Amino acid sequence: MAIMREWEIRELMCDIGRRAWQRGFVAANEGNFSVRISEDEVLTTPTLVSKGFMEPEDICKVDMEGNVLDARRGRKPTSEVIMHIGLYQRRSDIKAVVHLHPPYATAFAVAGEPLPKCILPEVEIFVGEIPIAEYGTPGTPELMESLLPFLENHDTFLLANHGALTAGKDIIDAYYKMEILESYCKILIILQQIGKIRQLNPEHMRRLLAIKERMGLSDRRLQCDIRHVCVPGVSNGIEKDIPKSAELPQNSSDEQGIVEEVVQEVLRRLGEAK
Ligand SMILES: [Zn+2]
Repeated sequence: MAIMREWEIRELMCDIGRRAWQRGFVAANEGNFSVRISEDEVLTTPTLVSKGFMEPEDICKVDMEGNVLDARRGRKPTSEVIMHIGLYQRRSDIKAVVHLHPPYATAFAVAGEPLPKCILPEVEIFVGEIPIAEYGTPGTPELMESLLPFLENHDTFLLANHGALTAGKDIIDAYYKMEILESYCKILIILQQIGKIRQLNPEHMRRLLAIKERMGLSDRRLQCDIRHVCVPGVSNGIEKDIPKSAELPQNSSDEQGIVEEVVQEVLRRLGEAK
């Protein structure tokens, strides 16, 4: 990669780090992100440095096995870069990975409650379904393994008892998914305080998914029965995994009622968990 271009990406990574830190998406030295800049080169944030105070020289460069190619004296790549590389190896379309601990999204990840769906058009189009990956010890291969069941069809993940992770075609794309996720989780918490929620119906969702398809954004739900797309959680595309409460009747107004009941139940359980 041309040196100028690489420098611009390093500067952009510092910029994203400042934004994430200023927005409270990470405390102290938490979080990490990376950009795949060529077949065998990944730029990554350093370990034990606040993402709000990075300089372009602090960014480390590793190969696709995690070997350090370039690092300023005293700087080492994040230990999570192995997980990032795991994503790049499995999905050639992913060119950037962002991992942060934004408080609202992390709260849902700790509660372990699937996020309700079919609430906001931007979330459905730009993020889509958000699975909760099982807890894995940070810095170990467990974290990557917990993402594997969802990796083919999703770019945005809650990490149980940990935080959130987003992947994208570039660092801006991955970071914006994180902003949308956090904003969504914040709105869901406010909705819980209001105590009621109105969902989009399956027809609204059909139209949104059609827009998404026209924009060239993939969504596994394009292949699903539209009656199932608003059920909370991610079924992995396997019908038998859809929870019992999702057994929807033929009548579409009943169907919508049941979906809303499920969402109300999720919000109620979140309320009880306080
Ligand atoms: Zn973390």
